[in-house]
Order: sequence, then C-alpha cells, then structure tokens
Amino acid sequence: MALIVQKYGGTSVGSPDRIKNVARRVAKFKAQGHDIVVVVSAMSGETNRLIALAKEIQAQPDPRELDVIVSTGEQVTIGLLAMALKEQGVDAVSYTGGQVKILTDSAHTKARIQHIDDANMRADLNAGRVVIVAGFQGVDAEGNITTLGRGGSDTSGVALAAALKADECQIYTDVDGVYTTDPRVVPEARKLSTITFEEMLELASLGSKILQIRSVEFAGKYNVKLRVLSSFQEEGEGTLITFEEDSTVEKPVISGIAFNRDEARINVIGVPDKPGIAYQILGPVADANIDVDMIIQNVGQDGTTDFSFTVPKGEFPRALKVLDEVKKHVGAREVSGDDKICKVSIVGVGMRSHVGVASTMFRTLAEEGINIQMISTSEIKISVVLDEKYLELAVRVLHKAFGLEQAA
Ligand code: ADP
Ligand code: ASP
Ligand code: MG
Repeated sequence: MALIVQKYGGTSVGSPDRIKNVARRVAKFKAQGHDIVVVVSAMSGETNRLIALAKEIQAQPDPRELDVIVSTGEQVTIGLLAMALKEQGVDAVSYTGGQVKILTDSAHTKARIQHIDDANMRADLNAGRVVIVAGFQGVDAEGNITTLGRGGSDTSGVALAAALKADECQIYTDVDGVYTTDPRVVPEARKLSTITFEEMLELASLGSKILQIRSVEFAGKYNVKLRVLSSFQEEGEGTLITFEEDSTVEKPVISGIAFNRDEARINVIGVPDKPGIAYQILGPVADANIDVDMIIQNVGQDGTTDFSFTVPKGEFPRALKVLDEVKKHVGAREVSGDDKICKVSIVGVGMRSHVGVASTMFRTLAEEGINIQMISTSEIKISVVLDEKYLELAVRVLHKAFGLEQAA
C-alpha cells in the first residue's frame, strides 16, 4: 500500500469520456489499496480560451483578475472528476488550491508555492476518500487566488507529493514518457526509460514542455520519486527521473535535445568598452523585470564592444524600448534585435567524459547551411541560437548525428 499523487494534464482530461477514463484508472489504483491524491489541469484549450477572453476586455490583463479567471479552468475539472469517481462508486472530494491551502507568494501569474497545509487531505485519505486537487493554482497570504505559470499543474503535483511525503508522483500526459526530443518534431525520437534529474532539469529549463521546470526543481529539493507516463495506455513504466546515475551502464554522449521558440535576440553595438558596461546595459533590463537568458560580450576593439543577449519573445518590444534609453545613456552606436530566432540545445551528462561534442554539433549544422548566431555551453549542455525557420531541420539532423533514434 502506497500514497501516490497522480497528475493528469489537459489532453488527458480533455473531454467527459477522457475524464471517465481517468476516473477508471484512479479507481483501479484505489482498489489495489493505495491512497490516491489526484491533481488535474484544465481541459485542453481551456486556459488559452480564458486568457483570450480576458484580453478581449483588457489588452494587458490585470494580473490579479487574470488569475481569478484562468484558475476557473481547473475548478471545472476537479468537480467533473469527483463526480465521475462517485459514479463509479468511489468516494472522492475536490478541492481548489485555496481550499487545500496551497499558500503561495503574491506574484500573480507566476506565483511560487511556499507551504501546503496537508490536514484536510490527510483526514480525507484516512476516511478512505480519493482527494482531487486543482492544479496550477494557490492562494496568497491575503486570500487572493494565484496561479503558478503555464504548465504549473506539474509543479502542483510534485509539491503535493513532497508535502504529503508520497511514495511516488506520477505525471500522466499524452506521451508515454520523456523522449530524446519532442516526438511531434522528430517522429523517430526514442522513449527513455530513465533520465537523470540533472538532465531533466536542463531539458525543462531549455524549453522542453514535458515538465514545468519548477516541478523538476521541487522533485530535486524534496527527493520526490517522479515518473512521466501516458494516460492513454494501460501498461507501461513511463520514464523515471533518477537521482543517482547508474554507473554500470555506459552513458550516451547526448541524452536529449530541447528547443525553445520563445526567445528574441537583442544586440547593442558599439558600446564603450569599459568596466561597468554590462551592468549599465543589463541593470535597466532587470529593473524592468525582464528575464535575460543567453548573454555574449565580444572582445573590445578600438575602445568599443558589442553585446548580445536574449529575452522572452513577449518582452521583446518592451526590452527594445528600455534599451533605446540605455543607448543614449551609455553612448551605444546601435540597438537592434530579431524575434524570429529559436534556441536549440543538446543535453547529456555523458558530455563530461567525451570530447568533440561541440564540434559534431557545429559541423552538423554547417553541413545543412544553418548559421549559428549565438552559442552558450555548460558542463552538460550546448545551446545555439538559430534563425527560427531552421528549428525543425536543426533538431532532426542533430538527433540523427548523435544517434538518438530508435533502434530499427
Ligand atoms: P500536459 O497537458 O499533459 O501537461 P504538455 O503538452 O504540457 O502535456 O506536455 C506533453 C507534450 O510535451 C507532448 O505532447 C510533447 O509534444 C511535448 N514534449 C516536448 N519535449 C518532449 C520530450 N522530450 N519528450 C516527450 N514529450 C515532449
Ligand atoms: N492549465 C494550465 C496551463 O494550460 C496549467 C497546466 O496545464 O499545467 O498552462
Ligand atoms: Mg504540461
């Protein structure tokens, strides 16, 4: 007998039939004697619909009110799933984030979970009920409804598993595990039976949407046993996120490829090459609450240097505006940018013990005539910024070059 937290994503609860299906799976685990807490997302498309609706009234929606609106998506699914379970003769009770008391900070639309009160859930589990919790949402100290950022139900699931000291957190989705890359882009992608926590963290932070990055961070911090599985298949072990590397197996050089279409590049050209210049450029960007990702500064020549960095695509116009001011202030020659870019990253702990990984990556892209605009590396990843139009091609040829396809 175990305590299991199961999270079902939007597609998995996308219709009444699919909700009944989820109820059947939950009932099956329950019948095996396990205690089950279920976290659900809104039905697929619902969160997007609610955001679009809000924007029809207010182009830049008020963050507090937007959270009031978008959190309703998950509130519908918890009620429907509780009813579906009751119909199948299983006692169940639904809770919104506020009813559980998933306490967050007050950063609307990107709140962070601070504490979870487990009293209600424990009492229900002890009484033999299935507990169903709305993902993606919480409540701040003043009682305002907050949400955790897109894809945030993953984080709700893992945070609940941590708070309840669950034996396992199962993330049920529309693929049967974590693949070498998004199978929608590369149909030959291969399912991984395990992936290290470190690699999963990199893949998630580099844009792979299979798990929200915060959920992986939570799993690492609280040692939650985390597994990704399909809600459409009866059998299958999915992918287990492991904390210890299996030293008996030879590691592949690269474990996976992630990509991100959501960034834009900014260049600040001809800035005086003197101490403090990076701060003078990036300080105002940070003050405007814009996240900066990849940063490159060239070696100065003739007393000036060039500076490039990436920002979220949605912040591109605002970032350009901020930099126009900075340009005057620091005396830069030109500020330009491009929001038709993408970032492609290869990830693998095997990189630590292999040389030539970067050159294989660069040669593969060169052979396709793909120009690399920016490069950044760390111990277990290499990221490149490319013209957006090459995204699919780049991912496909890299996937092949590193031998990631399924065995024929
Ligand atoms: P959910 O609604 O269940 O949270 P998401 O759409 O957020 O599902 O995440 C699942 C999707 O993630 C898959 O359909 C797949 O297209 C995409 N994906 C991206 N990278 C990967 C990967 N490396 N392995 C598996 N799926 C991936
Ligand atoms: N419904 C939310 C979203 O679409 C949260 C989630 O699905 O994880 O982002
Ligand atoms: Mg998701």
